[in-house]
Amino acid sequence: MNHPIRVNFERLREDVLALSRIGQTPDQGIHRMAFSEGDLEGRRWFRSRIEAAGLEVYEDGAANLHARLDWDDKRPSVMMGSHLDTVPGGGPLDGALGVLVGLEVLRTVKEAGVALKHPLEAVDFTDEEGRFGGLFGSQAIAGQLTPAVIHNARDLDGVTLTEAMASWGLDANAALFARRAPDSIHAYLELHIEQGPVLDRNQVSIGVVDAITGLFKWDVRLMGQTNHAGTTPMDMRVDSFQGLAEFAGEINRILEEHGSPHSRATIGRVELKPGAANTVPGQTSFSLDVRDTDAETLRNLADAFRRTLSALARRRDLMFEFDVLSEIPPMRCDPGLVQLVTDTAERLELKHLRMPSGAAHDAQIMGSVTRTGMIFVPSLEGKSHSASEWTAWEDIERGANLALHTVLQLAAADAGAAIREQKPKRKQA
Ligand SMILES: [Zn+2]
Repeated sequence: MNHPIRVNFERLREDVLALSRIGQTPDQGIHRMAFSEGDLEGRRWFRSRIEAAGLEVYEDGAANLHARLDWDDKRPSVMMGSHLDTVPGGGPLDGALGVLVGLEVLRTVKEAGVALKHPLEAVDFTDEEGRFGGLFGSQAIAGQLTPAVIHNARDLDGVTLTEAMASWGLDANAALFARRAPDSIHAYLELHIEQGPVLDRNQVSIGVVDAITGLFKWDVRLMGQTNHAGTTPMDMRVDSFQGLAEFAGEINRILEEHGSPHSRATIGRVELKPGAANTVPGQTSFSLDVRDTDAETLRNLADAFRRTLSALARRRDLMFEFDVLSEIPPMRCDPGLVQLVTDTAERLELKHLRMPSGAAHDAQIMGSVTRTGMIFVPSLEGKSHSASEWTAWEDIERGANLALHTVLQLAAADAGAAIREQKPKRKQA
């Protein structure tokens, strides 16, 4: 009879519940924005859990908290990670689950006494959710920060990152020293909730992520002529909103012709000026957010959107201009790691689906440093960034065991033995 090694699910479950009470507000949403009281309490709790497990704690210059096993500063590590910070009114699992599963994997490996050829790390990355811009901790590790980026980072209330960190006794510029040499990390694996409806709707427990979408975000302005809604005949108007209406109607055609099944385009903000019911709007400004997992497809989409806008502006006598607000390249997961996660899911007899991630994650940044993979577990009804975000316990357990087995194959001196031999010393809940 084969008894493959398993995580201590009851312990993981208690950690998820304990952490979900930190930053919890009466409206049930969780408030652990980076360097808020809730975030600091969450970090203190995580640190105490690392220490209680007899693992090494390391806090780097970007305030990322690392749990470490078998660390010797020489061999490259197998790193797991995600984030304990939340959006305002966030849920209990976004980010938190990946960090807690990482900790549980380290505890399980330590207790089983597995000999490791690579040390293990489980990391809580600082400000993934973006109180001060987002993905701060992973960017620090990837060496993507500059003194100017750190200096300019501020939240919506104008509090700078430098001030926020100083109020907790931390020096924001020390984040420049958190950079890790690529040869100090053997591989990076992140478990995260899907935050979308695909796995839940298909009743599949595991998503094997093969790519994380990139995006471009534009701020577009169409300028026509402001005029009286009653006295200006329809054929004598230069109505900027009519330009937007025509453009919005073209979006699906553009995606069909130039995009992929993974392409997404969204107009999420529209502002009409002067913005009165009895006035033809002379200016329409709107956001355009376009995503895909392939860099060339994104370029083609950008060209097509620009051509369409400029053609309809010409036809309608509108002026048209746009600013690029952000451009994030897509990230392909390491094909070897995608295959390893897939094979491991099959061996554990877990229903799985290969899929892209539509949301950004620390893994996207870590992909610039080391070979990177991601595991998704289902989000009930696709809900996330809300108090009702949830994943069935059985799926959490399946995801955690898949992470454990994947990490063992990457890091154990004798992976075959480590996976098969369960020491009969722990009672399973
Ligand atoms: Zn997240």
